[in-house]
Amino acid sequence: KKFMEGIDQLAKRMKKVKTKLAVMSGKGGVGKSTVAGLLAVHYGKKGYKTGIMDCDFWGSSIPKIFGVENKRPVVREDGIEPVHTDKWGIAVMSIQFFLPSPESPLAWRGPLVSGVIRDMLAKTEWGELDYLIFDLPPGTGDVPLTVLQEVRPNGVILVATPQELTATIVEKSLKLAQELNTAIVGLVENMSYYECPQCGHKEYLFGKGRAAEMASKYRIDFFLELPIDPALTRLCDSGKIELYEIDPFEFFLI
Ligand code: ADP
Repeated sequence: KKFMEGIDQLAKRMKKVKTKLAVMSGKGGVGKSTVAGLLAVHYGKKGYKTGIMDCDFWGSSIPKIFGVENKRPVVREDGIEPVHTDKWGIAVMSIQFFLPSPESPLAWRGPLVSGVIRDMLAKTEWGELDYLIFDLPPGTGDVPLTVLQEVRPNGVILVATPQELTATIVEKSLKLAQELNTAIVGLVENMSYYECPQCGHKEYLFGKGRAAEMASKYRIDFFLELPIDPALTRLCDSGKIELYEIDPFEFFLI
């Protein structure tokens, strides 16, 4: 019964969110959280009411890149109020906020984590949002499955590095999304090239054109080649992703 109540609550709260987008990757460390962060910044900067839900339990980095890891959500009778970022007022929720320290071990198994995510989603009072971004853990395990099934996002954005941008990885995520009637609406090839700050030459370290090829093969409307940018690493490391001036999602039409 409690489980069903949770699902109802979750559905009720999600109704107040116009567009929900989930960011997925095959592996960890490919820049998935960074891309999820940049997507939230894209909307926040434009004045949309935006939220980001950190579902990447074991590799949680959203609070850190937004510099809100020392803030705490306000727990009220009728729900938990997420924290807000300084620059664009993006609402952020993460399990991190409820742990004694960021180094706390999370020796929890998938089904338990899914339960906690479901609970957090049922209790978080986002209010009316234009966009809510879900930073999912890498792979196609319990948590991505739970979120895709229960939140029913409007679309998935897939992040991969050039080496990893193979048919298998795209196909796996595509299959999962298809099974759950969710479209892959974007493909991001991260760390695709390096642009020389002196001469502007773009060096595609692993070959050029793979993202375009994959996007056309799998009929994904939007693809992006994101360069390796030391300025982005620096801003993320210092909790200031909101100050990144480049908007890679400028031409993303959702
Ligand atoms: P994931 O969420 O896939 O585990 P992260 O988003 O946490 O990966 O990124 C891993 C590291 O790589 C972080 O230190 C991040 O700042 C850095 N990074 C990601 N994308 C880029 C990029 N395009 N240019 C420079 N650094 C990047």
